[in-house]
Amino acid sequence: MINLLARWPFHIHLLTAPGIGRLLRWKRTRLLWRWALFTLAAIMIIDGFFGSPLAAKNTATIAAWVHYRGLIVLALLFFGNLFCAGCPFLLTRGVARRLGRPAHRFPKPLRNKWTAMVALLAMLFVYEWLDLWASPWLTAWVIVAYFLAAFLFEALFTHDAFCLYVCPLGSFNFLYSGVSPTQIASNDLQTCRECAGHECINGLHGDDGRLLQQGCQLELYVPTIQGNLNCTLCLDCVRACPYDNVALAARLPADELFRRARPRRLDTALLAIMAAFLALVNAFAMTPPIYGLQKRLAIILHTRSEFVVLGVIFVIGAILSPLGAAYGAAWLSRRLSGGDGDLRSWIIRYGYSFVALGFGVWAAHYLFHFLTGPLTIIPALQGFFANVIDVPILGQPDWSMAARGVAPLPVIRGVQMAAVLAGLLTGMAIIWRAAAEETATRQETLRAAVIWLLLLLLIALIAVYLFLLPMEMRGNILG
Ligand code: SF4
Ligand code: SF4
Repeated sequence: MINLLARWPFHIHLLTAPGIGRLLRWKRTRLLWRWALFTLAAIMIIDGFFGSPLAAKNTATIAAWVHYRGLIVLALLFFGNLFCAGCPFLLTRGVARRLGRPAHRFPKPLRNKWTAMVALLAMLFVYEWLDLWASPWLTAWVIVAYFLAAFLFEALFTHDAFCLYVCPLGSFNFLYSGVSPTQIASNDLQTCRECAGHECINGLHGDDGRLLQQGCQLELYVPTIQGNLNCTLCLDCVRACPYDNVALAARLPADELFRRARPRRLDTALLAIMAAFLALVNAFAMTPPIYGLQKRLAIILHTRSEFVVLGVIFVIGAILSPLGAAYGAAWLSRRLSGGDGDLRSWIIRYGYSFVALGFGVWAAHYLFHFLTGPLTIIPALQGFFANVIDVPILGQPDWSMAARGVAPLPVIRGVQMAAVLAGLLTGMAIIWRAAAEETATRQETLRAAVIWLLLLLLIALIAVYLFLLPMEMRGNILG
């Protein structure tokens, strides 16, 4: 066990900080946050079904495909997994559990990230294939489907199976909360060693045996937590610990990636690599060259089906390429450095560096859309209240707001480049550190790391090339 709070800057304990500490500890904070997101989701569903069919004027498409994604990367970068902390899809959890009385855990062979990986891929594929960004109606259905899926899993399985093994949004947040500057940690490990009940995971019970506060449903045991993977920031552990021994510690961003504190598992390491490639595919799908490629592929494959053509692009770009790159780089670096071990262990050692670069690429992409029209949501909400439910509490929509970006386009491009560069440099530093820990001399370190460094560089260069192309302004009135 590593006592994180003993290391700088972990002694900054946010739950005891003035103001924010009280807010975070207040037991209604999470409920209010969840209700706020639930209300927004309800507005999106109603507006999606009954509001403007124009994507750039509807809260369903604007909030889902522009604001959610822009704000999620900012939240992860500056705080942590705030969306999962208030996940609206689980608001109906109590009803689901009462109805379903779940007694079974998720099947053991599926207790990994493979299902979530497929779900993430499928969601982004469907987004492109059905142009979800352009259809408020379909977007509303996606949100409804999300609620139904969460309800079903909560009714059938125990231990937050949906969050842990299925949810693509959660998987994205779990993966990239690796770069966040906060983390749950034990305040004092000695207290944990002497703790008999381990309430942070087992739950806090009253004298009569009644459960007063559930423990971590994600099966994270506070004294052994090394990073943010799988943590929803629900703070149940904080409330359950009878010794007030759980901290929300401030740390250096991406610290857990440098400490190599992520599980030594192939599924999570490959998820990091595949998600970085998926970021490229997702950005590529919004640039002009994709149309030429789709046309050429349609001719080669003798098909007019966009499903097939796009499917081929996704399979090559987001499945075969990352798998080939991961195993190829692992094989080459093992050979160049004269190391041993199976390829799996090499992928696990270096794969988490892709979290940093992947996050940089996603952030560059999502912030572009968000920063070019951050105020669009205001007239969309005004339109919803005034025209859809006929309660004009926010006044009539002022669409001139939608055209206002926070900064001129060159500045936004600068932010994008900075995000990619920061991700690249952080990823490279993680690779170097991982290689240095396994080798004796600088030359050996270089031989072990060089292929991975080049791979990161290649991904970053492709990202820069894509972000310099004209990009569709989806969900923005300028588009
Ligand atoms: S309940 Fe508190 S003291 Fe006990 S193991 Fe968990 S964090 Fe440590
Ligand atoms: S109970 Fe604690 S460790 Fe578990 S998910 Fe919630 S905040 Fe994270």
